Amino acid sequence: MDNLLPALGEEDARLQEMAADLSGLLRSPLPRTGPLQARLADFSHRLSFAAQDQGALRTSLLALLRLTFENIAALSLDDEWLHGQIEALVAASTPPLNLRRLDEIEIRLKDVIYKQTDAKEHMLQAQAQLRELLATFIERLARMDESSSSYHQQLEQYAERISQATRPQEIAPLLQEVIEATQAMALNSRIVHGELHELRIRVEERHAEVEQLRQELDRASALARHDALTGSLNRKGLDEALAREMARAQRQGSPLCLALLDIDNFKAINDRLGHAAGDEALAHLAQVTRQVLRPQDQLARYGGEEFVIVLPDTTPDAAGDIMRRLQRELTTRYFLKDGERVLITFSAGVTRVQDEADMQDALRRADDAMYLAKRSGKNRVITA
Ligand code: GH3
Ligand code: MG
Ligand code: MG
Repeated sequence: MDNLLPALGEEDARLQEMAADLSGLLRSPLPRTGPLQARLADFSHRLSFAAQDQGALRTSLLALLRLTFENIAALSLDDEWLHGQIEALVAASTPPLNLRRLDEIEIRLKDVIYKQTDAKEHMLQAQAQLRELLATFIERLARMDESSSSYHQQLEQYAERISQATRPQEIAPLLQEVIEATQAMALNSRIVHGELHELRIRVEERHAEVEQLRQELDRASALARHDALTGSLNRKGLDEALAREMARAQRQGSPLCLALLDIDNFKAINDRLGHAAGDEALAHLAQVTRQVLRPQDQLARYGGEEFVIVLPDTTPDAAGDIMRRLQRELTTRYFLKDGERVLITFSAGVTRVQDEADMQDALRRADDAMYLAKRSGKNRVITA
């Protein structure tokens, strides 16, 4: 018994207790057979549970590992080297496992991670080059006809708008406008025109490249069940997390709660500071939330400015307290925009999820409670 127990880990406290108890009994000088038999029966029963749990744990860890590998493969669609590696990783993580195969997995995975970091850098470089090319483009246009001050002014405005653009998609239509507005000018000088044409082709090439890489990343993050802006789970990820936590809660007989929060007056933040700042505010909220929550809690983006938090092993009262703590934290970790302290508040509804069949209803209850919180003045938490 003493040799067997370490192999089963220390998660099952009750098993450890029973083992200590039984071992004490066995070591006593004259154990009575009646109680001993009963304890042995209980212990072996518990032991078989623990062994089953270990088996199930290993199977789900392996399944998780494979899922991770598959997602990595989806991240780099055209990379044959990576695909080869991933196939090998999937094969290596097929049962039965041993330490040597785990070593092999680790080495291959390190290669893959290295290669992926490289791919991301490539995308950032492509974006930087795109910006540089555009800057050159504008500069040359401006030099083309310095004598014409109206053109000059117009070009300055374009340059300003381009420098404010944050995504390649915003740059493309601007570029089209610039090209149209300057066609008349370009006629004056064939040489410059040719140069611009060439530059435009290069810009378009870069743009296509950045766009392709971005799409790949978007696709990969959808597969990975995460929302690209905030890094929290997306709806699909939330459904899976809820199902998983529900199963665990039922197995352990522990309460599971969820909270639905909606940012207060978010439209005003967007209107006053711009949509991009609104996006940053969302990412900020997600970051603070993740820092404040316990490791087992999970954050998901439910809609535009609505989030759901899954709270395992938590009663509704405790869930309400957790959400109010998050509200307090947000008053000190405000969102900084151009030196301005922007206070983000939210209204939330909290409810317990009874069982698997109750998941959709629970979301609706939390939404109703959140709505009630809005109606009673916002910046508060109501338990359904
Ligand atoms: P309330 O306190 O009643 O919730 O007011 P509100 O202004 O937050 O509510 P409403 O639902 O009317 O507006 C939500 C706004 O959130 C509308 C939409 O433009 C904005 N929004 C939704 N998704 C995003 C996003 O991804 N980024 C940004 N910047 N804004 C978003
Ligand atoms: Mg809303
Ligand atoms: Mg809102």
